[in-house]
Amino acid sequence: MNFAIVGATGNVGRKTINILEKSKIKIDNLFLVASKKSAGKIIYFKKKKIKIEALEKYNFAKAQITIFAAGSLIAKKWAPIAAKRTIVIDNSKYFRMDKNIPLVVPEVNKSALKIYKKKNIISNPNCSTAQLVLALKPLHDKFKIKRVIVSTYQAVSGAGKASMDELFSQTRNYLKGKKVKSKNFTKQIAFNLIPHIDKFIKDGYTKEEWKIENETRKILDPSIKMTATCVRVPVRTSHSESVNIEFKKSFSLNKVRELLKKAPGCKVIDTQKNGGYITPFEAEGSYLTYISRIRKDNSNKKALNLWVVSDNLLKGAALNTVQIAEVLIKKYIK
Ligand code: NAP
Repeated sequence: MNFAIVGATGNVGRKTINILEKSKIKIDNLFLVASKKSAGKIIYFKKKKIKIEALEKYNFAKAQITIFAAGSLIAKKWAPIAAKRTIVIDNSKYFRMDKNIPLVVPEVNKSALKIYKKKNIISNPNCSTAQLVLALKPLHDKFKIKRVIVSTYQAVSGAGKASMDELFSQTRNYLKGKKVKSKNFTKQIAFNLIPHIDKFIKDGYTKEEWKIENETRKILDPSIKMTATCVRVPVRTSHSESVNIEFKKSFSLNKVRELLKKAPGCKVIDTQKNGGYITPFEAEGSYLTYISRIRKDNSNKKALNLWVVSDNLLKGAALNTVQIAEVLIKKYIK
C-alpha cells in the first residue's frame, strides 16, 4: 500500500506521519507533498529520509490513498484532480456537507463509507465535531437526543502552525512588557480568549458554529436540534467542550456512565473531587476522548451536562483520517 500526504509539513500533516508510523497499515512507500517553499526538505518516516515534493509537480497516481491536510482552497482545487487517480481523505471543511461525500468518524458511522466511490473523496469532520459525536453516539442510541447546546474552548493549534506560533510569541512579548501584535487572530490571544472562530455567517453565528451543528447532524441524525458557541482559548492543544444534552426519553446517571465507559475511543474520568476531571493539557498526545463532569441538568429533568476533551490534532484530525484509511483497507480495498 502506497500512501501520500498533501500538507505534510503542517500541524495535521506531521501528526499524520507520526500516527502512520505507529499504525498497523503496511506502507510500502509514503509520498510527502507541500508547497513549493518546502520542496526538497527532508522529513523522516520510520527512520527513512523522504524528500518533500511540490504539489504542482506531484503525480497522484503514485499512492492508493492520499490524505489532504492543506486547507480548503487547496482541497477545492486539487482534491477532485487527485481523486481521478487516488482515494482522497480530506481534512478541510470544503467537501463535508456534500451529500455524495461521506463524512466519517469510524466509531460512529463507518457504514457511511459505502458511497465513497461516488467521488473517491472522503471528508474528515471538524475537530470539535469528531470528539463530540463520540460522546453523543451511545447516548443517542439509548435515550434519543432531542437537543444539544455546546460551548467549545478550542486550542490555538486548531488554527494551524502559524497561529500556534503566535500564541507563543504574544505570550513572550507580553511577559517582557513588549507590544503584542495579532496577525492570525482578530484580537490578542495570550492571556485572553476570543469568542469567534472562522468567519461570520448569517444570524450572528460563525462558520465554526455552523460546522459543528451541521456536521453532527450529518454524522449522527439530522433530526437533532443543536446550537453552538465556539471560543478560541490560549491553550496549545486539545479542545474542550461543555455539552448540555436534552433527551426524548428519561435517563439515569448510572446508565449514562455505563454507556460512556464502554463507548469506543472514550474514557470517563469523573471522580467529582479536586482534580477528578480531565484538562486539555493532560489530553494532549492521547488517542482517547475524555469525558468528565457528568451530571444532571437541575433545570431540566431530561437533560445532562458533560465536559468532553480531546487532542484536536489527533482524534480531531490526523488519527481520524488514519482510522478511516484502516477501515477502507480492511473493508473496501482489495
Ligand atoms: P497548517 O499547520 O497551516 O499546515 C498547512 C499545510 O498545507 C502545510 O503543509 C503547507 O505546506 C500546506 N500548504 C499550504 N499552502 C500550500 C500550497 N499552495 N500548496 C501545497 N501545500 C500547501 O494547517 P493544519 O492545522 O495542519 O490544517 C490543515 C487542514 O486540516 C486544514 O484544512 C484544517 O482546517 C484541517 N483541520 C485541522 C485541524 C486542527 O486541529 N489543526 C483539525 C481538523 C481539521 P508549507 O509548509 O509548504 O507551506
